[in-house]
Amino acid sequence: MSDLVIYNTLSRQKEKFEPLHPPFTGLYVCGPTVYSDAHLGHARPAITFDLLFRYLRHLGYKVRYVRNITDVGHLENDADTGRDKIAKTALIEQIEPMEVVQRYTDNYHRNMDELNVLKPSIEPRASGHIPEQQEMVARILESGYAYISNGSVYFDVEKYNALYHYGKLSGRILEDLQATTRELEGQEEKRNPFDFALWKKAGPEHIMRWKSPWSEGFPGWHLECSTMSTKYLGNVFDIHGGGMDLLFPHHECEIAQSRIATGQDSVRYWMHNNLITINGQKMGKSLGNAVTLDQIFAGDHPLLEQAYDPMTIRFFILQAHYRSTLDFSNEALQASEKGLARLFKAQSLIGRLPLSEDTSLDIPAWESRCFDALNDDLNTPVMIAHLFDMVRQINLVSDGRERISADDRDHLGRMFGIFVTGILGLETDSSGLAEAVLLPKVVDLLLDVRREVKKNKDFNLSDRIRDDLGKIGITVKDRGDGADWEIT
Ligand code: ZN
Repeated sequence: MSDLVIYNTLSRQKEKFEPLHPPFTGLYVCGPTVYSDAHLGHARPAITFDLLFRYLRHLGYKVRYVRNITDVGHLENDADTGRDKIAKTALIEQIEPMEVVQRYTDNYHRNMDELNVLKPSIEPRASGHIPEQQEMVARILESGYAYISNGSVYFDVEKYNALYHYGKLSGRILEDLQATTRELEGQEEKRNPFDFALWKKAGPEHIMRWKSPWSEGFPGWHLECSTMSTKYLGNVFDIHGGGMDLLFPHHECEIAQSRIATGQDSVRYWMHNNLITINGQKMGKSLGNAVTLDQIFAGDHPLLEQAYDPMTIRFFILQAHYRSTLDFSNEALQASEKGLARLFKAQSLIGRLPLSEDTSLDIPAWESRCFDALNDDLNTPVMIAHLFDMVRQINLVSDGRERISADDRDHLGRMFGIFVTGILGLETDSSGLAEAVLLPKVVDLLLDVRREVKKNKDFNLSDRIRDDLGKIGITVKDRGDGADWEIT
């Protein structure tokens, strides 16, 4: 059905994508834990798998895309100790945990809409699947691969590893883990420090809790993804995606749980996007560089020299291959902003190109180069380079140095629409782009001219520029060293 090849983290090689039940295919991606505003780190997996979702649909697959919302069970240290991240925010903000969930889910959805990320087919919440998670715990207990300790249920990693390889996804081996895993406080009830919780007994301070045969408590973080992926996509499904930071322990634990609960290896292709750095530094709240998407879109953070349009962020992310690291800097973003404006400009020019009897461009060859790049493990940087080749050619046609026929012009317009709008998801109403990118530059230019005019003591003209700008809704405020402006 297609020539798509994807890199499978599990086999560590590129594999031809052959779904189990074509034309149907299932895609599961780990979604956000909704305890704070969405930040840059959320944008990359969302956009990476949105690209995959869009491309699979373009290829004719009927995709069921499941992306979960984690609203319970994700503890502070990503393992089995600390407070629940949602409950912690609820305590700080003095609101209900489900209010925290609603607030930050809404924020996430709004940001995803701004980034033109399509909605998944199903967006299940962990807290809405407690009975299913309990059933899975019971099944794993029955199989003998879990044990109850003080009301909590832990997965027996050592026993699992005797038959299966725990660590096969992340390339770890248990002997090394035994040597390196620290014994954390509050984990004495585990047989081994690397065992992980399927069910945790809730302490008295824990707000979110459910009755179970083992204790009043809550599910372990990894469990929700095993439960919800197999519930909606079947015991064996095609693609599981997520950020590389989830590879271990989250996805490794998922593999183990699903294997024991379903008797099968659930995931056929594992895909992981690489992480984002900021000015060469790892991103983190403690480092003060965890920039939220709202801050980026508003230019409201000390690290930002200006606001960036969501489409600039999307384009910037797509300019790197999803398996490469990606460094955010103002310089790089400004380059993307310019590049995207050129791309959109060329796209809008196609319909107005002068026509000839024949075409001097090789459009079919260009088209297959673009598809070849996408088929090669979603190689968007190469595909975008091909798009810019065509941008240059479009400009040559516009200048009369190359030729295009009416049919080919229509076809080129359609293909640009498919590549840029449909598959890359880069869409802007041109007024939005003009407002975000061009308007500030034009007003600054005008105010520069006005400064010159004032220097030459032509105060009539200088006042006229200020007053006329005021009439169209741009207020100019004179300062000692120049002028500021705002849209009123
Ligand atoms: Zn997950």
